[in-house]
Amino acid sequence: MNLLSLNPKVLNHATLKPTAATVESRRYWKRNGDKSCSSCTPKTKDFDDIKHTTLSERGALREAMRCLKCADAPCQKSCPTQLDIKAFITSIANQNYYGSAKAIFSDNPLGLTCGMVCPTSDLCVGGCNLYASEEGPINIGGLQQFATETFKKMGVKQIHDPSLDLASLPTSYKSKIALVGCGPASISCATFLARLGYSDVTVFEKQEYVGGLR
Ligand code: SF4
Repeated sequence: MNLLSLNPKVLNHATLKPTAATVESRRYWKRNGDKSCSSCTPKTKDFDDIKHTTLSERGALREAMRCLKCADAPCQKSCPTQLDIKAFITSIANQNYYGSAKAIFSDNPLGLTCGMVCPTSDLCVGGCNLYASEEGPINIGGLQQFATETFKKMGVKQIHDPSLDLASLPTSYKSKIALVGCGPASISCATFLARLGYSDVTVFEKQEYVGGLR
C-alpha cells in the first residue's frame, strides 16, 4: 500500500473566506481579549517578532499529542488562511511530517514564513480550546514551523500533480500571466496558478529583493 496516499490531499486552490468573516469569527472565538493586533504598535521594518524554531522533535510530538483535534476547531476559524490546523497537527502526532507539511502548503504556500512571523496569539492560538488549561494553548506556530522546516530538509522536489494532463489543457492555460510586485500575494497566486496547470507566469518586482518586506 502506498503510505503517502493516506496523507492529506493537496488542494490546488486556496480555501476562500472573506477577511471580514474571519475577523468576525475570530472575535466570537477569542479567549484572550487582552491580546489584540489592533492595540499593538505597528511594526515597520522591524523583524524582532520572528520566532526561531524552539521545538525539538520530542517537543513537537508532545505538543501535537496534547491537541484535542476539536470538532469546532476555533483555531482554524481564527486563521486568515483557513489552515486546517488539526489535520497538520494530527499528522505530526503520527510522525507523518511530510503529510503535515503537505496539509500546510496546500492551504498556504508561505507556511514556513507564517510559522515564524504570524501573530499567533491574536489568531489561531487566541482561539485554542486549551487556552484556559494549566499547560496553556497549543504552540501552533511552533508546530507549523517544525513541520515546514522538517519538510525543507527532506529536499522534496516540486512537481505537477501527476493526475493533471498538461497536454490536454485548453490553450488559455499557456497564456502569459503577469503578477506585479513579488510580495506574499503574488507568490501565493503564482503557486496556485502553477498547481492548476498555468505555465507562463511571470512575477515582476522593482526592488532587488523579493518577499515584499525588508
Ligand atoms: S483549538 Fe487547540 S486543541 Fe483544538 S484543534 Fe485547535 S489547536 Fe487543537
